[in-house]
Amino acid sequence: MTCPRCNIELTTSDSGDSLRCPQCSGWLVPAADIQAEALDLATESPEQEQLRCPADGDLMKTVQLGDAALDVCNQCGSVWLDAGESVDDTDRSSSLSR
Ligand SMILES: [Zn+2]
Ligand SMILES: [Zn+2]
Repeated sequence: MTCPRCNIELTTSDSGDSLRCPQCSGWLVPAADIQAEALDLATESPEQEQLRCPADGDLMKTVQLGDAALDVCNQCGSVWLDAGESVDDTDRSSSLSR
């Protein structure tokens, strides 16, 4: 599977139950590892760009949970966690490698 932001291959974490992007340090977490209660507390962030799920290509819904922005797949419930979500004020295009 590939990173929804970088389009490069994700690597498996040491524990083997999540996937990590070596470029942006984002994480893909299986739906079973995310507590539904946590998602209930999250607020939707409609201004965020929509990502596509690495697992099935469906659109993901961006939600804000505390300081973290999560992208939740509408289809399979997998969650994408961004590592560098705090850099929103900078020009995002300049940080992309391609
Ligand atoms: Zn990435
Ligand atoms: Zn999915």
